[in-house]
Amino acid sequence: MLKNKVAVVTGGTRGIGYQIVRKYLANGAKVILFGSSEKSVNTALEQLKAENADWQVAGRWPKLTDAAEVAQTIEDIHREYGRIDILVNNAGISQSTPLYDYTAEDFDKIIDLNVKAVFYAILPAAKLMKAQGGGCIISTSSMVSISGQTSGCGYPTSKFAVNGLTVSLARELGKDNIRVNAVAPGVTLTDMVAALPKPMIEAVSRNIPLGRPGDPEEVANAFLFLASDLASYVTGEVLSVDGASRV
Ligand code: NAD
Repeated sequence: MLKNKVAVVTGGTRGIGYQIVRKYLANGAKVILFGSSEKSVNTALEQLKAENADWQVAGRWPKLTDAAEVAQTIEDIHREYGRIDILVNNAGISQSTPLYDYTAEDFDKIIDLNVKAVFYAILPAAKLMKAQGGGCIISTSSMVSISGQTSGCGYPTSKFAVNGLTVSLARELGKDNIRVNAVAPGVTLTDMVAALPKPMIEAVSRNIPLGRPGDPEEVANAFLFLASDLASYVTGEVLSVDGASRV
């Protein structure tokens, strides 16, 4: 489905991002995954190569909250590979802090990574995509971008912003043949979820009509669809993959 496409996936070392990288590789893409450290990137690359030595995968670890470093990395990749067809903004952190315990620094931290870093990656990538005749941008939102959550307001705030970037840029960049979409996972079994307080996970899980949390691979399937030509007329969409738990 993605033969000869070049994809950059942030937060590709574990969880949902790792499964997106696997799906893209298994469907013929060349993938450059980003992680937060050289060590985590190399571990992910070793695992992927062990699964399939033919997969064309490489890694980088730019500081995502540094706009200049991200732009330089994306431009270097474009120079090396000749194009970037797909940008996936998946790296993210969550928070569950009650409002009365919040600090300004906590709020800044989540907005810096979950919102500003998404913009920092889109900016250079969209310019290169426009020049090459088109491309596809997909960001990881969340079910809480629709419902909010009962504690840790910075996290839903950041994901509402991801949706805002998505629908606005879909309208702005359509003329340049760049599709912009987001995927809004529900509770998905990754390290991030394991780190949340148990009562919060249980409360959310009780409201899942499909009766279980999602698997990262099920979420990655939506990223595959949106990156592929099957979604050639889909843009400005926030696709929920949450077992209907938002409704
Ligand atoms: P995870 O913690 O397993 O993985 C997070 C990824 O982001 C890792 O690859 C990590 O290297 C990267 N990352 C984290 N902080 C970083 C930083 N400062 N700089 C660079 N990279 C950094 O989490 P996950 O559950 O796979 O989450 C991936 C995305 O999915 C996030 O955007 C998250 O908000 C979203 N999401 C997750 C769930 C869920 O239930 N797991 C639900 C909805 C949305």
